[in-house]
Amino acid sequence: MTTANHRRTAILKAAAAAFLMLLPALFCREVKAIPASKTGFYFDTVVTVSIQEAPDPEGLAESCFDLMNELEHLLSRTLKGSDVWRINHAGGESVTVSSRTADLLRFGLSWAGQTDGALDITIAPVSSLWDFTSGQNNVPKADDLEKALAHVDYRNVTVEGNTVTLADPEAMIDLGAVAKGYAADALRSLLEEGGCRSALVNLGGNVLTVGSKSDGSAWNIGIRKPFGEPEEVIAVVPAADQCVITSGSYERCFTADGKLYHHILDPKTGISADSGLNSVTILSASGAAGDALSTACFVMGLEDGMALIESLPGIEALFVTTDNELFPSSGWPGSPM
Ligand code: ADP
Ligand code: MG
Repeated sequence: MTTANHRRTAILKAAAAAFLMLLPALFCREVKAIPASKTGFYFDTVVTVSIQEAPDPEGLAESCFDLMNELEHLLSRTLKGSDVWRINHAGGESVTVSSRTADLLRFGLSWAGQTDGALDITIAPVSSLWDFTSGQNNVPKADDLEKALAHVDYRNVTVEGNTVTLADPEAMIDLGAVAKGYAADALRSLLEEGGCRSALVNLGGNVLTVGSKSDGSAWNIGIRKPFGEPEEVIAVVPAADQCVITSGSYERCFTADGKLYHHILDPKTGISADSGLNSVTILSASGAAGDALSTACFVMGLEDGMALIESLPGIEALFVTTDNELFPSSGWPGSPM
C-alpha cells in the first residue's frame, strides 16, 4: 500500500472510530452540536479534536494541532533533526534536548524500570527492523534480530537535566509507546488553559476526555472488538477528565506463515509479544501513564499485568484475551457489551 493509501485508510478508520465513540451518545439522543471538530495526521495516526465548550473553539483546535506538530518534531524517531533523531545519530555523544523530551525520556525510563523492561524505550534497533504498514509483510531474520537486541537496554540511557547520553553508541530511542499519551496530557493542559470545559480528543484510538459532556454526564468511550469491524465495540467505559488508552495486536499487524505479527514487541525476543492477549485498555488521569502501561501490560500478559495495575491507585484496566474474553481490574467502571 502506498503512504497516501495508508493515510487514506487511516483517516477512514479514524472517522469510523470517532463515530464509534459517539455511538452510545447518539443512541441516547444526547449529542449536541459540536462547536469545533478538526482532524489532522500526526505521529503516524489520525488525530481528531472535538471541542464542545470553550471561549474560542476554532482557535483552540488550531492550537492543539500546532502543539501536536511541535511534539512530533521533538519526539519522532524518523523525522530528521527531531530530538530523538539527534540522540539516535549522535554515536554516543551527549545531546541537549528540549525539556519536554527530557521529561518524557525520564518518564519512559521510570516505567521501564517498574515493568522490568517490558516497556523499553530503547527498542528502536529492533522496531526499525519491522514494518507493519507497507504491506510487505517481511519477518526480520533471526540473526538481525539477535544483533539488534544486543543494543536494547533502557539502562544505557542517562538523562541529566536536558542532556541525554547513550552509553552504547549503537543504542537508539523509540518513544512510540508513550508519545501519544504524553501528547494527550500536553493537549489537556493547553485546552484547560484555553478555558475549555468539555472536549474529546482521539489520537488513533487513544482517547482524551476534558471535563464531561455538555450535559454534565461522563463520556461513553467504546473499546474496539479486536479483529472485529472498526465500528464493533466489545465494551463501553464512562470517562470524564480521564484517558482511555488501548494497545492492541489488531492495530498494525500482518500474518506470515500462519502466524500473527504485530507492533507490540517483546524486548526479550524482538518479536511481537505473544502473551495471550488481543488488547489492553487503560483508564487513567495521566495519558502518558496509560500509554506506558497499555504497552507494558500487553507484553507482561494478564497475570503480571493485572498484578501491576492492582498495585497502582487510580489506574484501571481491561484486558482482552486472544479468545476475546474480558478481564477488568477491580475498580473498572465499564460494562461489557
Ligand atoms: P499504539 O502506537 O498503537 O498506540 P503502543 O502504545 O502499544 O501502540 O505503542 C507501540 C509502539 O511502541 C510500536 O509501534 C513501537 O514503536 C513501540 N514499541 C513496541 N513494543 C515496545 C516495547 N515493548 N517497549 C517500548 N516501545 C515499544
Ligand atoms: Mg502505549
